[in-house]
Amino acid sequence: MNQHWSELLEYDQQHIWHPYAKLPNPVQAIGVKKTQGSIITLADDRELVDGMSSWWAALHGYNHPKIQQAMHEQIDTMPHIMFGGLTHEPAIELAKRLVSLSPAGLEKVFFVDSGSVAMEVAIKMALQYWISLSRPAKNRLLTVKNGYHGDTFATMAVCDPINGMHSLFSEMLPKHFFAPAPQMGFDLESDNQDIDALKAILKAHQNNIAAITLEPIVQGAGGMRFYRPDYLKQVRALCDEFDVLLIVDEIATGFGRTGKLFACEWAGISPDIMALGKTLTGGHITLAATLATEQISKTISNGHPGILAHGPTFMANPLACRAAIANIDVLLASPWQDNIQRIQAHFHQTLLPLKELDGVNDARVLGAIGVIELERSDLGATIQAAAVENGIWLRPFGKLVYTMPAYNIPQPQLETLTNGIIRSVTQVLK
Ligand SMILES: *Cc1c(COP(=O)(O)O)cnc(C)c1O
Repeated sequence: MNQHWSELLEYDQQHIWHPYAKLPNPVQAIGVKKTQGSIITLADDRELVDGMSSWWAALHGYNHPKIQQAMHEQIDTMPHIMFGGLTHEPAIELAKRLVSLSPAGLEKVFFVDSGSVAMEVAIKMALQYWISLSRPAKNRLLTVKNGYHGDTFATMAVCDPINGMHSLFSEMLPKHFFAPAPQMGFDLESDNQDIDALKAILKAHQNNIAAITLEPIVQGAGGMRFYRPDYLKQVRALCDEFDVLLIVDEIATGFGRTGKLFACEWAGISPDIMALGKTLTGGHITLAATLATEQISKTISNGHPGILAHGPTFMANPLACRAAIANIDVLLASPWQDNIQRIQAHFHQTLLPLKELDGVNDARVLGAIGVIELERSDLGATIQAAAVENGIWLRPFGKLVYTMPAYNIPQPQLETLTNGIIRSVTQVLK
């Protein structure tokens, strides 16, 4: 490591917060110099094969030439303009794509900067909907345990009550209803105990519940759990039966990761409100969106005060919208379903056998997501360090070692990735 980088990393360690970290950070962050495709080049010129897609986002790897070109063109014409009273082609073209691709009925688009805020807006829409119908007592949410919806206050309140931050902020967080998590297993033949428990809460509290909110099929940061499409289908039916809205958080699953363009499609359902984020620009720049049905927009607009009460400074940033348009066009022009199948088959073959290892609780795969759940929750940092030594980038949390590579990761790099995971986990558990 040269002097320049040593000084930078020392400054970083002393002054800059990283996600969920101490300051100064006892573990120095690793310097990154550049990215290309599925390769991350570190400050010391070592190259790592990326297993994280920067937290689901980089669907086509880093620096995709088509996305970069679209961004270059937008920078030269108009990097940003306020959205109050003004509009632009990138926002309109992106909205058209989102409306045409997303589940039927979602026709209205609200652009924001990050996933958490997309969920804040989703929650606000649901609350304003019932206020507009003069039913303000419907102001609680019903969600499931092991969920994750973001780090802001409204979203923290619907994250898992144990592994979220509820105990720390309990006085500040609104109290919502929590049903048991859906039973684990995409292919599970379930006895529906989980649905019955959710239904019992709806029955008892429907007059106070504005919406059910959950992640479809894949619960991400709250446990990396996969559940059966039939559960989601039944949730949709229960929402209709009990007059409750359905908010679906596709921030991690949107744009193909599970093998369908949106995870809702596994259940053949449409939510009333849907949040998109992470995957929207292919990991090139931050952007998120909340989609809603016409019934939602009409009700809010006909109610009091007749407007949706939200409006971020950088709403619908044109540079980010251009990146998102290019991301979607690249995705649709690519053989993404074949790629997801290819990665899923490779993960089945290589990662599922780790189940047999002492110290491993479970290994599971869905689409281009591979998860190894350990028995111990304190090995993440050691496994991350071993992974870097083995030439791959992983960011385990708690008991979970997981990977979701770029859809177009070349086969030799995919093999390096799974070999590296197997080696790192085996070394650390030995
Ligand atoms: C990451 C994530 C969020 C929060 O998005 P941010 O951009 O980090 O605010 C919300 N919901 C789900 C399912 C996520 O994976």
